[in-house]
Amino acid sequence: MRKTFIAGNWKMNKTPSEAVAFAKELVVSLKDSDTKLMIAPSMTAISQVADVIKGSNIILGAQNMASVESGARTGETSVLMLKDLGVEAVILGHSERRSIYGESDVLINEKIKLALSHNLEVLFCIGETLEEREAGKAEEVCFSQTELGLKGISAEEMKNIVIAYEPVWAIGTGKTASPEDAQAIHKAIRGKIEELYSKEVAEKVIIQYGGSVKPGNVKELMAQPDIDGGLIGGAALDTDSFTALANYN
Ligand code: PGA
Repeated sequence: MRKTFIAGNWKMNKTPSEAVAFAKELVVSLKDSDTKLMIAPSMTAISQVADVIKGSNIILGAQNMASVESGARTGETSVLMLKDLGVEAVILGHSERRSIYGESDVLINEKIKLALSHNLEVLFCIGETLEEREAGKAEEVCFSQTELGLKGISAEEMKNIVIAYEPVWAIGTGKTASPEDAQAIHKAIRGKIEELYSKEVAEKVIIQYGGSVKPGNVKELMAQPDIDGGLIGGAALDTDSFTALANYN
């Protein structure tokens, strides 16, 4: 059985003081949840949020990291810095990183390998654009991103990989893939993992859905056999809705 994993991606929201106040509320409101939970504050708030959630049932995640350990990378954050702050997981390959900052599959693959080598859990994001979906290429795009992103990663290392399927057209738009459409892609991605690794790896890998997940649609989405959790943006930004998402069942 795969354990449901609900993760909040705060993106570029909340100042450090707002993040601390919010994290304090979440520690209380989520304390009885039996879902696996993660929050990913902005880099400037990570250190303080780490102190707040220490010892709680919430995992500390980062939204990005550099592809090399240290050195001349102005403006970047290294895996060593994240580890030092107690970060346990990192979101990589998010569509905003791909489209706004031009991150390629090759770069994302380098980041994933580095994160895994430091024992971080990786939430590896994939997903097609509206144009690609309308051209009937959703699966093809997801397969290609999966293959390239996971290149050189062993079956053993797959234990620390979570795949987040996030159709780009559903992110922050209020449009969600129908549970059936999302399930079809999740199943196909799991099939791809089986082809690349084995049935055992495919059955164990957590595949989250992301894109306008909210309290009103979470139950239906999570009821699908191949949807194992959610990567949530907008609805992860307030206590009531994130708590409702964490306790959807
Ligand atoms: P959203 O974002 O929930 O606001 O659509 C999801 C994401 O980008 O991870």
